Amino acid sequence: MMFMPSCHEVQTDLTEYAEGSLPLSRKVGIWIHLLLCKVCAGFLRGMKALPGMAKRFLRPPDQAPEPAMKALSEALTALRKPG
Ligand SMILES: [Zn+2]
Repeated sequence: MMFMPSCHEVQTDLTEYAEGSLPLSRKVGIWIHLLLCKVCAGFLRGMKALPGMAKRFLRPPDQAPEPAMKALSEALTALRKPG
């Protein structure tokens, strides 16, 4: 039995798929689905026609917030200290 995601799952993962950030195990399922499903293939085409648009709405900013990262690493260091 081959792994085959549903239309809903494919469309949810499509942003990451288009960016190439999806794990291979999930990419394979989407490849197969896109070959067989015209609805989702059309969805992907429509998404590529709107460059950066979906990205801007669905993705967090690329930059890692410096103070937050520093605070996190300090908190982790403090947790590792005994007592
Ligand atoms: Zn589909």
